[in-house]
Amino acid sequence: MAGRWGPGGADCAVAITFDHLGEAAEIQLGSVPPDAPTGQHHSVTRELPALLTMLAAHAYSATFFVEAWNFRHYPHAVRAIAEAGHEVGWHGWLHEPWHRSTAEEIEESLRLSLDAFAALGIRPRGARPPAGLLGPHSIDLLAEHGFDYVSLAGTAFGTTVGSTARLPLLPYPWHAVDGAYYVPGFTRLRVPPGDEPVGPDGLLDGYAAIVDDTAAAGGCVGLIFHVPWQDRPERVEAIGALVDRLAADERVWLARADEIADWVRDRPADFPAAPHADRAPAW
Ligand SMILES: [Zn+2]
Repeated sequence: MAGRWGPGGADCAVAITFDHLGEAAEIQLGSVPPDAPTGQHHSVTRELPALLTMLAAHAYSATFFVEAWNFRHYPHAVRAIAEAGHEVGWHGWLHEPWHRSTAEEIEESLRLSLDAFAALGIRPRGARPPAGLLGPHSIDLLAEHGFDYVSLAGTAFGTTVGSTARLPLLPYPWHAVDGAYYVPGFTRLRVPPGDEPVGPDGLLDGYAAIVDDTAAAGGCVGLIFHVPWQDRPERVEAIGALVDRLAADERVWLARADEIADWVRDRPADFPAAPHADRAPAW
């Protein structure tokens, strides 16, 4: 039986996505003071150009979930992403972790973000709340602020719509985050948990297992890379290899995150709302 994903009836849908740009997350974490000079972060001057070149060579249109602070501080970089045919999504204003933020802090983050979108004339459709969890906040808040879909951490590969506002959901498991393979302190997120970072081959093996699980579940998934961590040529090359591998996999509809969201939204009979999903998927 044909699957339900994409024009070819694939078993699952996969989007390759990128998070973080500039100093935003580092300022939020306190490793860069808020008044430190900005404008020359390596993720903007080195990693982003290398990624855009690689993606063009492999003919894949990706999604970059960017902290909206960058719309003000690195407008040329945000424009370069969009002008290269990629989707620009939203990843907080300054990477505020939603599960540790008050309602007032989230409202302020959204207000600053919407102003920055308007100033640059680029309006993200997708929202990936920083740190992957909503905490006490509702998906409805994102719908009210004009977002069309949401991407959250969760082990449910399945489906799709997740709130009274019925935003399509692009889930990702924690072991679909590149840090689980590359960054000390995150390696316990791997399946099985690891004690040490591994190289790109380990990441590709881990992501292949996630795609196997997603195809078996008939779901969709986002695979995550962080722009600042693609600081070695072999890591960038691994993403190109992943694109080629997924494009050739008949089980997989390799698409952009907003394309997957539109596919779900347009087919409510195929993608019914998950029960009890007014806040987030189960994990
Ligand atoms: Zn993040």
